[in-house]
Order: sequence, then C-alpha cells, then structure tokens
Amino acid sequence: MQIIDSVPEMQSLAASLRSNDRLIGLVPTMGALHGGHIELMQAAKDQADIVVVTIFVNPTQFGPSEDFDAYPRGLEQDIRMCEEAGADIVFVPGVEELYPDGYSTFISEEKLSEGLCGISRPNHFRGVLTVVTKLFNIVHPDLAVFGQKDAQQAAVLKKMVADLHFGVRILICPTVREEDGLAMSSRNRSLHSTQRKDAAVIYQALQSAKTLYDSGNRNVDRILAEVTHTLSTSRRIRVIYVNFVDSETLEPLNELVEGRSLLAVAVWVDEVRLIDNIIL
Ligand code: AMP
Repeated sequence: MQIIDSVPEMQSLAASLRSNDRLIGLVPTMGALHGGHIELMQAAKDQADIVVVTIFVNPTQFGPSEDFDAYPRGLEQDIRMCEEAGADIVFVPGVEELYPDGYSTFISEEKLSEGLCGISRPNHFRGVLTVVTKLFNIVHPDLAVFGQKDAQQAAVLKKMVADLHFGVRILICPTVREEDGLAMSSRNRSLHSTQRKDAAVIYQALQSAKTLYDSGNRNVDRILAEVTHTLSTSRRIRVIYVNFVDSETLEPLNELVEGRSLLAVAVWVDEVRLIDNIIL
C-alpha cells in the first residue's frame, strides 16, 4: 500500500494507473476510520482494480464555531485499517496542499444543499463539493463510494456529478450500525459512556417511525411526532431537525412515497452533533 501526501505525485500515479487500463475506485474520508468506512473500501475493491482512500479533515466544510480542531484524528490506526481492508493507495494531503495561501475557488449546489443540514451548516456542502471536486480532479476515479449515513451529502454529490458532467460513477453504500443500532460515525468517539448510551435513542426513534409505518400509518405529522417523542426520552438530546424528504430531490414530503421517503434526523447529544436516516 502506498501512502502519498503530494497532489502532483497522486496525479501522476493515478494517470499512469489509468493508462494501464486500471479501474480506479475512490473512497473519500475524514479519517478516524470505522466499520462504515471499511464497507466503502470493500465495495470499491469489489468494483475497481485500484482502491484509493483519501484521509483529509476538510476545513472548508466546517463552520467557524464547529468542531474542526476537535474532530477525531488517528492517522496511524487509520493507515493500518486501510492496509487491512486491502486499499492500494492512501492519499493524505496536508491542508496547505489542497488550500494553499490565496485559495479562492469553491463549488456550490444551490437547491438540494439548502434544506436539512444546509440550514444549520450554511457553507457545509460548498466545502464538501469543493473538496470532492478537487479529489476527482486529482485522482480521476472511475468510481467514487460514499455512505447513505450522510444521505443529503450523497444526494448533493450525485446532483453535482450530473450537473457538471463529471463522468464518475457514484456508489452509495448502506449505513453500517453498532450493535445497538447507532450509526457508526467518527464523532461517536467524542461521546463519553453515558452520552454513547443515550445516542442509541436516535436509532430507536427511527425504528419507532418504521414500526408505525409498517403497521399501516401513512400520516407524516403523526410519524414525525413519534420520532420527536422518542428522541425526547433522552435528556441529553436536542433536536436540530426531523424531516421527511424525497430521497433523490430532497423536497419536503407531505405524503409518503414508498421507497423514496427519507426520514432524516440531526440532533445534538450534548455538544456532539449526530445525523442518521432511514428510507421508508
Ligand atoms: P466521513 O469520514 O465521516 O466524512 O465519511 C466518509 C464516508 O464514509 C462518507 O461517504 C460517509 O457517508 C461514509 N460513512 C460514514 N459513516 C458511515 C456509516 N456508518 N455507514 C456507511 N458509510 C458511512
């Protein structure tokens, strides 16, 4: 496994792999890797000849009062996990490598980015799209793999790839969960044990919606009320949003559309911001 931190080196390696007809699969991450990231690497391995994992805590997707400095990091263990998962290349650029002094170009999507997390994190998706575009231009992957856990990110990225004719195939992998249902997330490392226990309520809340839905209930307000009620059983949890949107367009839903009704949740567990979702 090769570890690369320079953009020109990564570009020329990717170019030579491509010229040898190797299919390149890209897995962008912010590190602090967990089982969710490993699934993405395995999916990339199944469908591409070469797996490039990127580890970069992207400052432009964090707001000024967000947790960029406190975001969990652990490069040595991450590199071990990439190697065990069978990655071929780990690209770990420094911040200066991607955003040198005077950097001033950004990519925005102006519709799907606006709702859900876009309300409380106004420049978040602009940062995500900018860094993913840079990674696409550096690696020129055939395939890029992302997780359904970040459902809005997945929808916004697909929209950008379509709108800007990127010609990169986007693969979205299902959310990998802990035993108690909590979606795996690097930010879970910031939870102490009682917060971690309370965080399981997020999945219970999504399941309470599924139970109502499976029993035939199709009343959007009623199901959302059930979710907020379940979340309120933890005194550590503060709801940022609980919404039903169309899973592709992210338009708010007043009526459920089978197989496309994305129930998306964002909460604070004390000072840790977590998101999760299911599709009904
Ligand atoms: P992050 O390092 O949090 O930016 O995530 C990198 C990629 O891993 C993104 O495409 C995420 O959607 C994906 N991911 C994060 N957590 C999970 C999970 N629990 N299951 C599946 N994919 C995930």
